[in-house]
Amino acid sequence: MNVARNLKRSNETVQTSVNLIPIQEMIRSCIQCGTCTGSCPNEFAMDHTPRQLWRMVLMGLKDEIFQSKTFALCSACYCCTLRCPRGLPLTEAMEALKQIAARENLTQYKNSVQFYKAFIQSVRRHGRVNEMEFMTLYFAALKNPLTPLRFAPLGMKLLSKGKVSVLPPLRRERPLESVFRNVAALEERS
Ligand code: SF4
Ligand code: SF4
Repeated sequence: MNVARNLKRSNETVQTSVNLIPIQEMIRSCIQCGTCTGSCPNEFAMDHTPRQLWRMVLMGLKDEIFQSKTFALCSACYCCTLRCPRGLPLTEAMEALKQIAARENLTQYKNSVQFYKAFIQSVRRHGRVNEMEFMTLYFAALKNPLTPLRFAPLGMKLLSKGKVSVLPPLRRERPLESVFRNVAALEERS
């Protein structure tokens, strides 16, 4: 059974001013072959398959696209991009949808924005993610005391298997700071 296809969707509508044209241009030559769907490791958790999502984008179905969880569940693994017979930049297109959802401050995407922010904050500080710090920042941003409880069993399991460390990384602080500054400067110029 595809549990995730029953996930509750938001009823939020998006601004008609949201511009899908750059994303439509990226995927204009899609032939609906479904290779992206067959290649996606997260497809089982999506409410629309990647192939369906690209069709919705081409049809300009803004509300349906941004009520869907499909793009939010893309983990940027690039499998679809590598295998698309038309060589389309599908991971970038997913990223562009995420950026619109963040910019529009869509309710159902707010947790994902906090997740990305906490992740990148930890990477900026240590040069790699420190799982404990990352999750602490994430839970603090969500301001919901029940969320850590929900994740507690998984955290304990990962700790018991040595998959996460309670100690901070032994590297120097902010080894990637110059990279972050350069990217910020580039973004300001663009
Ligand atoms: S693999 Fe490429 S051409 Fe095939 S459905 Fe997906 S986006 Fe379209
Ligand atoms: S890049 Fe995203 S959509 Fe493409 S296969 Fe990976 S998880 Fe799926």
